[in-house]
Amino acid sequence: MNYDSLIIHYGELSTKGANRASFIERLTHNVRVALRPFATASVKGTHDYIGVSIGQEDPNALISRLQDVSGIQKISLVAKTARDLEAVQEAAIELLAHEKGSTFKIDVKRVDKTFPLDSYQMACEVADSILDHSSWTVDLHDYDILLRITVRESGCYLSCHEYPGLGGYPLGMNGKVGLLLSGGIDSPVAAYKLLRRGIKIEGIHFASPPYTSSRVLDKLVDILNALTDYQPAFQLNVVPFTKLQEAIYEHVPEPYCITIMRRMMLRIAEKVARDHHCLALATGESIGQVASQTLDSLIAINDVTNFPILRPLATEDKVSIVDDAKRIGTYEISIRPYEDCCTIFKPKKPKTKPKLEDCLYYESKFDWAPLVEEAAANVETIRVPSKEEHEND
Ligand code: ATP
Ligand code: MG
Repeated sequence: MNYDSLIIHYGELSTKGANRASFIERLTHNVRVALRPFATASVKGTHDYIGVSIGQEDPNALISRLQDVSGIQKISLVAKTARDLEAVQEAAIELLAHEKGSTFKIDVKRVDKTFPLDSYQMACEVADSILDHSSWTVDLHDYDILLRITVRESGCYLSCHEYPGLGGYPLGMNGKVGLLLSGGIDSPVAAYKLLRRGIKIEGIHFASPPYTSSRVLDKLVDILNALTDYQPAFQLNVVPFTKLQEAIYEHVPEPYCITIMRRMMLRIAEKVARDHHCLALATGESIGQVASQTLDSLIAINDVTNFPILRPLATEDKVSIVDDAKRIGTYEISIRPYEDCCTIFKPKKPKTKPKLEDCLYYESKFDWAPLVEEAAANVETIRVPSKEEHEND
């Protein structure tokens, strides 16, 4: 008896009564896409779980791929038998023969209540046959192996191994946002947090050549590539920001430059996001991290738009952001040296409590609106292809 299937348990589905059908449909689709490279595996969505037949594939490779798919709570590696006590007993003995340890516990769940034995009787019958045919012993508290048996109409499913999933919602279920992507450590982690919630992402980056190098773009493409574990492909919108940035530094007193620059970024980002059917913007800002991210600054900056802005890292501290960045594989890319437009024009003493009236006053001193229009109209979009497309190149 070998493990022949995986059972994918749904994430936060229980809280989403009305959306159940679309959750399942979306997740089944995303699982199919994720497992496309595994030709002999097959996927079937049901009301309670998604079943994956392993076929000729390596189950560990399938599991590790599925652990990057949002909307999955956990994955069980299972062996399926007929809906019959003897078949389950035989399978249980064989599965345990391949496990390390000496003590076990059995948990039975009867989804199909018409099965003649109740859960307790079934657990006793199966445990007895294991005790008769092996040196395993039962320990209900300190066991080496927990054997889970689920009785369904379609058969009985035995599992000794469960793997955690990403949780959250299936990608695409919660729309798409335009994420301001700088090349630093924070914004890729913000991306990951959004993707886990089922929100698709399109990148928006402000570039100020020749002050910033085109190598920043290589870096951003590498970051998005690392995130293709969670979203198959990305678009990166690059905004030409040089003229506007020069105008800001010509007309605005230095301590207010960053605040005004952020206000301009938001104005442009909103246009790009709307053009690209994004429902909101998102940033990697974290409250208090730097001068432009105090609450006073956020108030002054946010005033330019009533478009929703998600800040998934708002209350995270840097240590946990860095841990996340390392775990998702973007940290090493983010710390490569680069010159961002914020770094280049960084004022010596940025205002930590900028006033909205002052922002409006300084902005009245120059004609920025056409420059905002021009920047938004000249966005260049780079496509970061999926892993599969890469392989087929
Ligand atoms: P780090 O703080 O690790 O340097 P960061 O990405 O958070 O990286 P910040 O300077 O803290 O960079 O900027 C805060 C947020 O503003 C970023 O997370 C990003 O969303 C946005 N941002 C900053 N600079 C740019 C840029 N050049 N293009 C697009 N978005 C940017
Ligand atoms: Mg930051």
